[in-house]
Amino acid sequence: MDLQQLVRPNILALKPYSSARSEFTGDAEVFLDANENPFDTGLNLYPDPLQWKVKKKLGKLKGVAPDNIFLGNGSDEVIDLLVRIFCNPGADRIVILPPTYGMYRVCADICGVEVAEIPLTPQFQPDVAAILADADEHSKLLFLCSPNNPTGNVFDPARIEALLQGFPGIVVVDEAYIDFAAGPGCLALLEDYDNLVVMQTFSKAWGLAGIRLGMAFAGRAIIDLMNKVKPPYNVNQLTQEAVLHALDNQSQQQQWVTSLLGQRVLLQQFLSGLDFVTRIYPSDANFLLVKVKDPKGLYLYLVNQKIIVRDRSNVLLCEGCLRITVGAPEENERLVQALVAYGNG
Ligand SMILES: *Cc1c(COP(=O)(O)O)cnc(C)c1O
Repeated sequence: MDLQQLVRPNILALKPYSSARSEFTGDAEVFLDANENPFDTGLNLYPDPLQWKVKKKLGKLKGVAPDNIFLGNGSDEVIDLLVRIFCNPGADRIVILPPTYGMYRVCADICGVEVAEIPLTPQFQPDVAAILADADEHSKLLFLCSPNNPTGNVFDPARIEALLQGFPGIVVVDEAYIDFAAGPGCLALLEDYDNLVVMQTFSKAWGLAGIRLGMAFAGRAIIDLMNKVKPPYNVNQLTQEAVLHALDNQSQQQQWVTSLLGQRVLLQQFLSGLDFVTRIYPSDANFLLVKVKDPKGLYLYLVNQKIIVRDRSNVLLCEGCLRITVGAPEENERLVQALVAYGNG
C-alpha cells in the first residue's frame, strides 16, 4: 500500500495544532503553560491528548500495542476522520455495502464525497467480485460492518481477506458488535495488512454509550494521521476515567454479554413460535432482525404499548423486517407479553 497516494495532499502537508499538553510531556511540578485554572476541581486541567493510560490498559486486553490504537469521541468520530483524511471532496469515494450502518454515508455526504453502494448478497455477505470490479484509485475507503447492522451476521473471513488483498484503498472493519459474536474478529489480521483499520466501541457490550468512546486499531502510519487531524482534546477527562474504571471491572462486561446472549436465544425461540413472524435471521449481535407479516402495523402496535423497536421494513434486503434490540430480562418479558397479546388480538 502506498499511503502517500491514498492520503489527501492537504492532510499530508498539514502542520497539526500543538497543544500545551503535547509540547511538554516530561516531569514537572508547576504547570503555567496552558492557561488553566489552578484551583483543583478534579477537572481543572486539560486531559492527556493521547490517552496513554487508557491505551496501555486497553492494549493489554486486545493484544495490540498502544501505538496501534486511536481513541475517538465515539466510533462516529473515527468514521468522520477517515473520510476527511483520505477522500478528496468531488474526486474520491467511499464504498459501502447496504444494508448497513447509516453513519458511513452521512460522513461522506457532509464532506461532499461520493458513495458507491455495492449491495450485500441475499445471504448478507460482501459481493467480493462486484466490489473489486467497481473499485479504482479513487475508491479510498471500504466500510465492512461485521457483525453487520442491521442484519446481525458476521462476514465470511475469507471474503474479508480477499477484499484486504484486492481493494486498492483502506479497508475499515466496523466491529461495534464483536463482543457478541462467536468468532474472534479481525484484530489478528492487523499484522498482515497495513491497509486495515478495525473499529470497536464502548457503546454496546461495555454499557458505556453515554461516555462516547470509540476505538480504532491500525498500523502506525494510519494512527499517526488520525492523531494529526483529530481535535487536540477529543476524549475528555471524565470519559478517560470512566473507561479506566470499566477496564478494571471486565467481569461485569462479561456477565452482561453472557446474559444478553442467553436472552437472545430465548427471544429467538419465542419469536419462532409466532405465526406472524415469517423469518428470524441468525444474529452475532445484541439484536435480532425479524421479518413479520405487517411490520408497520406491528411497529405502531408496539409504540402504543410504549415499546420501541426499529422499523427497517423499507431498507434494501430487509423488506418487512423489524430490528429488535435484546433488552434486560424484564424488558424482553414485556415485549413477549405484548407480542402474545398482538397475536391473540
Ligand atoms: C452502534 C454502532 C456504532 C457505535 O458508534 P459509537 O459512535 O461508538 O457509539 C458503530 N458502528 C455500528 C455499526 C453501530 O451499530
